Amino acid sequence: MSAARRSQPAAKAVVVLSGGQDSALCLALAVRRHGADAVAAITFTYGQRHAVETRYARRLARRFGIAVHKVVRLGFYRDLTTNALLDSRQPIARVRGAKCPNTVVEGRNAFFLLAAAVWAKTLGATEVYTGVSQTDFSGYPDCRGVFIRAQQRAIRLALDYPVLIVTPFLLKTKAQEWALADRLGLLDLIRNETVTCYNGIPGSGCGKCPACRLRNRGLRDYLKGRNA
Ligand SMILES: [Zn+2]
Repeated sequence: MSAARRSQPAAKAVVVLSGGQDSALCLALAVRRHGADAVAAITFTYGQRHAVETRYARRLARRFGIAVHKVVRLGFYRDLTTNALLDSRQPIARVRGAKCPNTVVEGRNAFFLLAAAVWAKTLGATEVYTGVSQTDFSGYPDCRGVFIRAQQRAIRLALDYPVLIVTPFLLKTKAQEWALADRLGLLDLIRNETVTCYNGIPGSGCGKCPACRLRNRGLRDYLKGRNA
């Protein structure tokens, strides 16, 4: 638990915080809606090669002054599956004929959302924020609205608790996300203090991996539109 635990008002929302652009903006939106004291964040480590994310997540949690931040280890992932995010010897690539890049961590969001919801119930919070997007996604099946809706229903049944999964970017492009960051006065913060790159390089990253390409293309598109 990295952020200081203060005398706690009731938590209203738990944000799944990876330290990347999408989750950092989710955190900003949750704080605007509920106030920092009513927001908690949860970060998962699962053996990903860009574990530097966790450092950025901690920093973001402090920056936004939220009530509590928890880092949870999902140590079993490497026992169940492998991919280029979990195994740094595998080059990150799109395999010919595959639906998504070899960085897909099967079922990751299903675990994340269930775990976040369990913690939300413990805290008395009813909202779980996630930065998934099905518009600009890489073909990951657990970033689609159809999965989120099904998972929300499954979690409600599993916990007998009225969790709402909040997905502010589900239907937004990366360029629209950058526009929102700019409107909130957070363009520089999101640009410089988040890490999206699969190779763990903060800011504009390595520029070559699929996550960097998506992020940087979105920023270019947004800035082109803004400055036109
Ligand atoms: Zn990269």
